[in-house]
Amino acid sequence: MKTVYLDNNATTRVAPDVVAAMLPFFTEQFGNASSMHEFGSSVSGAIKAARQRLQALIGAEHDHEVVFTSGGTESDNAAILSALEATPERTEIITSAVEHPAILTLAAHLEKTRGIRVHVIPVDGRGRLDRDAYRAALSPRVAIASIMWANNETGTLFPVTELAEEAKAVGALFHTDAVQAVGKVPIDLKSTAIDMLSLSGHKLHGPKGIGALYVKRGVRFRSQVKGGQQERGRRGGTENTPGIVGLGKAADLALAHMADEQTRVKAMRDRLEKGLLQRIPNTFVTGDPDNRLPNTLNIACEYIEGEAILLMLNRAGIAASSGSACTSGSLEPSHVLRAMAIPYTAAHGATRFSFSRENTEDDVDHVIEAMPPIIERLRELSPFWSGAGEAPKTFSPVYA
Ligand SMILES: *Cc1c(COP(=O)(O)O)cnc(C)c1O
Repeated sequence: MKTVYLDNNATTRVAPDVVAAMLPFFTEQFGNASSMHEFGSSVSGAIKAARQRLQALIGAEHDHEVVFTSGGTESDNAAILSALEATPERTEIITSAVEHPAILTLAAHLEKTRGIRVHVIPVDGRGRLDRDAYRAALSPRVAIASIMWANNETGTLFPVTELAEEAKAVGALFHTDAVQAVGKVPIDLKSTAIDMLSLSGHKLHGPKGIGALYVKRGVRFRSQVKGGQQERGRRGGTENTPGIVGLGKAADLALAHMADEQTRVKAMRDRLEKGLLQRIPNTFVTGDPDNRLPNTLNIACEYIEGEAILLMLNRAGIAASSGSACTSGSLEPSHVLRAMAIPYTAAHGATRFSFSRENTEDDVDHVIEAMPPIIERLRELSPFWSGAGEAPKTFSPVYA
């Protein structure tokens, strides 16, 4: 059976060139980068090269601005905890209602255990940030504002360069969780006021368990992993050399394929969107159609369960997601769709298709053929669709 992987916002396949680049660092090049002999110095050279490759991908001014971490979650945690520690007189933080749990769980924890005031900025029906609420929350009491570059469930992009300028005006730091944006949209940090940025290897065809935090030169940073002087004292622990080298290679490949992402990948996504909307009634796109990641399609089908759709797609060899992997398994619609006030009748039937450069036109054809009959069958079973339940509520196909 043909299998189609369209869950690249959850994780990507490690590129074969990345695996090849990593292998020597499990075998001959096993040295510790801190050692004062040849085994160490060849490894520290490879780490420096990887740092420079990441610098190039995100347009950092200096390679020292890149701190390697264990992934997106650690980078997000480190950014916020560091900011609170560096400016203890500032006791508030700002974030959005649609952030990844790596931010929202930490924010809730800080509120509960340390009395930190958390401003959770709402979004509109397309997932766009309430800019007035953001401006109103900014004050000299704010240590850091953390707003994602792109949402993992809908692909909606946030105006982070402008938000960073506004934060700077009140002396607050600005961090962005760019885990979904890095490698998919061009990023040039040196021309922005963004102080910190999180990225993760496994979302861009690199390995899992490796990521980085960009820390702009001059930003006061407080290490959250105490130990040796690795990463210039900003993150203790012997470097994950194979992971770092793999992430460097993945960054190189992402930069080389950036144009592909904006053209071929986007065209496949758009064709899938059009094909499904044409063939399936009472279906609409969630997120901001005019300002989205090129690879992400989140489509809501009214009056059915996302879990049932996923199971039946899986039987047809298609891997997709009903939103954030962390929320699937529960019957509540994702916090992202709830924050967008998508009606429950539709949010339950939301399915996310996320492409990568490895997908093909055949993949798109397969989903366009397989999905409409699945939805039709599920709707026949749905008491609401068949008219046996409560009368269907009307909806507007685009949420303003
Ligand atoms: C996947 C993801 C993370 C977490 O990254 P890990 O490397 O898996 O810890 C954080 N933020 C966003 C937006 C993500 O998509």
